[in-house]
Amino acid sequence: MEACPFHCIYCDQIKISGHKKLPHAEEIVLIVEKYLSTIRSEQNEVEVGFFGGTFTGLKPNVQESYLEMIQPLINSGKISGIRISTRPDMIDEDGLELLQRLSVKTIELGAQSMDNDVLKKSGRGHSADDVIAASKLIKKRGLRLGLQMMIGLPGDSMEKSIHTASKFIEMGANDVRIYPTLVINGTALEKLYLKGQYVPLSLDEAIDITTKVLVTFEKSNTNIIRVGLHPSEELLNNKGLIAGPFHVSFRELVNTKIWSNLLESVCNKKSASTINITVPENEINYAVGYKKANRKMLESFFDKVVFKTSDKLKKREFYVDYH
Ligand code: SF4
Repeated sequence: MEACPFHCIYCDQIKISGHKKLPHAEEIVLIVEKYLSTIRSEQNEVEVGFFGGTFTGLKPNVQESYLEMIQPLINSGKISGIRISTRPDMIDEDGLELLQRLSVKTIELGAQSMDNDVLKKSGRGHSADDVIAASKLIKKRGLRLGLQMMIGLPGDSMEKSIHTASKFIEMGANDVRIYPTLVINGTALEKLYLKGQYVPLSLDEAIDITTKVLVTFEKSNTNIIRVGLHPSEELLNNKGLIAGPFHVSFRELVNTKIWSNLLESVCNKKSASTINITVPENEINYAVGYKKANRKMLESFFDKVVFKTSDKLKKREFYVDYH
């Protein structure tokens, strides 16, 4: 919050990130070195991310001091680049020049929605046009654009979420994150929730909307880097989470649902007692489903359900044979 003067109704930065104050620049290097000792950086592309707030809302000299501390790690090849998260209305040419000069390769904008009514009701303090303008500036410089969206904000709907995803694609988003709205203790959203003026999405509704949004992004080959919030332990341990569709395996549930939709079409072979389903190796867990949900669904149609894998299949290709 030191960097952010805004008050989005769902946000409590301390509870979400688990930190109460800005770290010193020297601390950053110690944190990065600690993590680097657990990564084989020669085999991986490793980035440093400044997340959990509005990086470009910090004073330019503070931004500079953080980014400069990382430069030796970049020069030595241990780190390939830096990514930061910020608000769309805190992007301008000068700020981007500073970031680019100091090895920032990706800028993620907390856009949250491309519907002005949803943005207003959520207290975001910026418009959909601000997201478009900031995205243009970022893309014009050849930087990688990340866009974050939330589902289930006040005034939101399935249609509006799909509209947001389509606009992200139009703006040329390289990376996207999808977060279901959660009610956190001490936020304005909690007050609305307690007064009955905000009803969070149920887990099933959130899975349904996210499934459609995710498939929309996949069709355009947009890189989906996160689905679902990963709250700090503090958020869970201290009862910070009041309501909303939180699940530790949210992405797995969404992938299970996508496969459930695909497999529904193969259930109607009434004369068969056995079904063999062959799927790509890296999709087998999702095809079988979270807690075997899809296997159980198929078992209500067939006596025997056999899942197999093939390295010839890609994405969510599959084939079935019956006996
Ligand atoms: S802009 Fe970001 S950090 Fe600031 S209140 Fe909103 S969500 Fe929280």
